[in-house]
Amino acid sequence: MQRNVTNEALRVWTDLPADIRKKILANVFCPQCAHAVTMNDYNASFDGGTLVLRGFCSICGHKVARVLEESKQIPVKPTVSKKCVLENYIFEVLIINSSVCDLKEKVMRKIRISGIKSLYNFAKVITQAFGFQFDHCFGFYDNLSDIRKCKKAFELFVDAGEAPATEITKGVKKTKIAQAFIRAGEKMLFLFDYGDEWRFYIELKEIRKADKRESKPAVLESIGMTPLQYPLCEDGVNEGES
Ligand SMILES: [Zn+2]
Repeated sequence: MQRNVTNEALRVWTDLPADIRKKILANVFCPQCAHAVTMNDYNASFDGGTLVLRGFCSICGHKVARVLEESKQIPVKPTVSKKCVLENYIFEVLIINSSVCDLKEKVMRKIRISGIKSLYNFAKVITQAFGFQFDHCFGFYDNLSDIRKCKKAFELFVDAGEAPATEITKGVKKTKIAQAFIRAGEKMLFLFDYGDEWRFYIELKEIRKADKRESKPAVLESIGMTPLQYPLCEDGVNEGES
């Protein structure tokens, strides 16, 4: 029985990509050396459903162990997980306004991105799609007119270590798109640069099954010319470069 359990643990372990296993093994804390070391002669077992590797420090030989918190989520059949992971989210993103420009036409980008990407990643893709530099703080808000009255809000400030603006405010780096947008039709405000206040209207149009070729984010459709992120002053000096 014990052997079976260990075999199963080893199998789950060896199902992980080799480079990840290598990284994990090379980053085990040794209490004797008091820093991260490489673990040798290890075995794998399940402790209360969590995968644990036990072995010996490559430097001093002390016993070391490594708990793999996420191992519970490692699926028994990887093919099943791939199916649900490969979902693309199709968004329409429109610039609504900013404090530095008057929009005279519709400016829209249709963006495809995997639902497992973080909101931080999404923000980067949005700014790139509009030719903006990704150089300011930002947030996602489910209340389009008053960001202090949101039921869902995600701000980079939280990731930067600041206290959340409200009790529901979360960070953008650990929040996946699929956690922020649950179903098609959901809308959010993307506020980029709290100084110039670029406001983008985001609507999730569709969640699509994706194949491997579609795993990278893409702009599927472009309408309108992107306004300049840093419009020139009348004397020709670029304000943004201050
Ligand atoms: Zn050691």
